[in-house]
Amino acid sequence: MKYILIIGDGMADNPVPELGGKTPLEAAEKPAIDAMAAKSRLGSVLTVPRALPPGSDTAILSIFGCDPNLYFTGRSPLEAAGSGVQVEPGWASYRCNMVCLEDGDGPFEEKKILSHNAGSIDGATSIAIITALCADPEFHAAMEEIGMRIAPTPSFRHIAMQKDGDIQGIVCKPPHDILGQVIGPYKFHGNDNAGQLWKLMALANRKLEHLPLNEQRRAEGKKPANGIWFWAEGTAVQLPNFVEHYGRSGSVISAVPLVHGIGVLTGLKKIEVEGATGEVDTNYAGKLQAAKDALLSGDEFVCLHLEAPDESTHNGSLSDKLLAIHQLDSLIVAPLTAWMEQQGMDYRLLLLSDHKTLMSTRTHDGDPVPYLIYDSTKPQPTGLSYTEANGEKGPYVEKGTDLMGLLFETE
Ligand SMILES: [Zn+2]
Repeated sequence: MKYILIIGDGMADNPVPELGGKTPLEAAEKPAIDAMAAKSRLGSVLTVPRALPPGSDTAILSIFGCDPNLYFTGRSPLEAAGSGVQVEPGWASYRCNMVCLEDGDGPFEEKKILSHNAGSIDGATSIAIITALCADPEFHAAMEEIGMRIAPTPSFRHIAMQKDGDIQGIVCKPPHDILGQVIGPYKFHGNDNAGQLWKLMALANRKLEHLPLNEQRRAEGKKPANGIWFWAEGTAVQLPNFVEHYGRSGSVISAVPLVHGIGVLTGLKKIEVEGATGEVDTNYAGKLQAAKDALLSGDEFVCLHLEAPDESTHNGSLSDKLLAIHQLDSLIVAPLTAWMEQQGMDYRLLLLSDHKTLMSTRTHDGDPVPYLIYDSTKPQPTGLSYTEANGEKGPYVEKGTDLMGLLFETE
């Protein structure tokens, strides 16, 4: 028996007026998923405990059987693990985004934030810019003063770590939540360290504003990476071992470090696929092939995570969200299940949206999401398609941490 977990990030939603009151899951063309749902256990699940903020961090921890009430210390230590960076006990870690702020030499706090990823900056340039910044003597000294180190990664998502960094009560607003706004009102607060981080970000802006690499980006019509932004603070975390707990070994295929990090910290292998972008242009064929290779090489469990529905919703593109759901169906679910059947592999497959992402707010929502569990050896006829409303008709799982036991039939 093979066990497959497919996560369509942020697929689930509420009814959308432009779709005549349907949800994107109800409106999207997804015949393979719906055919499977019609023969599955179909229900709904609360992936994020009510008291916690809904997001892929809390939701996917739950899905992998790690109670976020116990193991969620922040997003960045999970991401760091996914990028191969270990956060030492006693250190705080942060995501360090390359961002784009309004041009000019005016006060930092009066600037607007224009992009949370410096205009989707490419990995090589992002590394070059953060490396240049850290090599600046004044910036270097300022980092040293507060025990900060930055580990570059080939994307807009660098990782910052701070020795004895105090994150108790700190409020660091995520940059994607305040796009287009003046940053002053969101000045970090909550403790003394908040002011130190903010000061370092202001210095970074001053250093990066006229960096030759940024002048070059402007000349090319690109957004400059003229700022850094700390957020997603957390402390070193140890997760329960998946292989020991469920007795199954396996792999995690994703475009995003967070999901890889949760996989790695639970003892699973991470598989990186060239051209996996997390958007509708992602390398679907590569991800499909990686899943097949993992199954053929002896993995009993494979997780395929697709970020595109979530990204499309954050970008406010309904057409991309519908396309992303359709692509998940036609480029992943349909060919993967057809291939497993052709190989004569028996399988159980859990498919779900980790959390809702709403077109109406362009952000996450903590309501329950629909899940399906299909068993190729014992189909359960329900005749229902995979939608939020149909999920509500089926068995309700109150704790997302119970899902994996249901997939493996250990509970
Ligand atoms: Zn999201």
